[in-house]
Amino acid sequence: MTTAQTQELDVQPTPLALLLLGREADPRSERGVECPGELPSPSDPDLIERARAAKEKLGSKVFVLGHHYQRDEVIQFADVTGDSFKLARDAAARPEAEYIVFCGVHFMAESADILTSDDQKVVLPDLAAGCSMADMATAEQVAECWDVLTEAGIAEQVVPVSYMNSSADIKAFTGKHGGTICTSSNAKRALEWAFQQGEPSTTKVLFLPDQHLGRNTAVRDMGMTLEDCVVYNPHKPNGGLTQQQLRDAKMILWRGHCSVHGRFNLDSVDEVRERIPGVNVLVHPECRNEVVAAADYVGSTEYIIKTLEAAPAGSKWAIGTELNLVRRLANRFAPEGKQVVFLDRTVCFCSTMNRIDLPHLVWALESLAEGNLVNRIEVDQETEAFAKLALERMLALP
Ligand code: SF4
Repeated sequence: MTTAQTQELDVQPTPLALLLLGREADPRSERGVECPGELPSPSDPDLIERARAAKEKLGSKVFVLGHHYQRDEVIQFADVTGDSFKLARDAAARPEAEYIVFCGVHFMAESADILTSDDQKVVLPDLAAGCSMADMATAEQVAECWDVLTEAGIAEQVVPVSYMNSSADIKAFTGKHGGTICTSSNAKRALEWAFQQGEPSTTKVLFLPDQHLGRNTAVRDMGMTLEDCVVYNPHKPNGGLTQQQLRDAKMILWRGHCSVHGRFNLDSVDEVRERIPGVNVLVHPECRNEVVAAADYVGSTEYIIKTLEAAPAGSKWAIGTELNLVRRLANRFAPEGKQVVFLDRTVCFCSTMNRIDLPHLVWALESLAEGNLVNRIEVDQETEAFAKLALERMLALP
């Protein structure tokens, strides 16, 4: 597949109006559910005090997790911050915390429920906080894809590798079919493992749901070519692919993407290089392949943070990831003389992450403090067992 073909496969960038300040709706990932209780007004001057009081009342019974992409107003109440997998593990390491309040999105809360004990209850302050990428692969679509692979006579050669950013159902599918989960930090190791599960020359990977992370890892880290990858479009009959294309491919990439990282393009890179001479471009591997190819550094959120920590004073950085994090990093590193800017000129938050705001957090904490368990995210036992199997395979990766 050529770069031009890859570009053609990308869906239209998220409309600007959707992204501005994260205040608009993302119909593909917000779940159309309303908060069941009475939300405090965003203009209530006592919100910070109310959150503090409720958290204090709950004491060690509550543990608040804050994903890196959350707003500052929420992050200030997080007991721990990090990416979704680290947060889920942190929660599991706190068995005394009966309530895990996950300031993140739906699939993250599911992962926390899978990894924590049955006594721990995971709460998502706003049930509408979905993830457009995770929602691009449903259980029904993936089951249908497996039928297509079976009909093409290749299902037995295919090992599913699913990104952490997927629903519990997709993780369970992965576990059931001998596959593993991966994060943006260990995707290369996960692919190496997958290709060792069968005859190396005939084994294939079905990578779900982020085509960009799958393609970037295959091409940039594993030496495959763009032609080794095909994109399975769940909205087209047989994924839009012939049986021969499926048989010839090494990587079958699900047609999913992150609406935040997927909008950076080559113009963003060229423009920032012109605007800030000597700038280092550092992007997340959820970005498109041409952006990753044009960047100086590529890595996960944790890698981005560590790279900036190690950077010398006077260095300049353009970061291609979610804006709440970039803004926090810019403020953190400015006193050390490191210039950190957002890769794109357009404001771009993750609109669904931004649904978790202070009013929702206050409402969730106060409800728990009053003994009302609200917005619990609970994965059923069978799904949990298979999803855990896939997660355990990831933990055992060499
Ligand atoms: S930043 Fe992208 S992958 Fe992460 S929660 Fe938002 S839409 Fe999903």
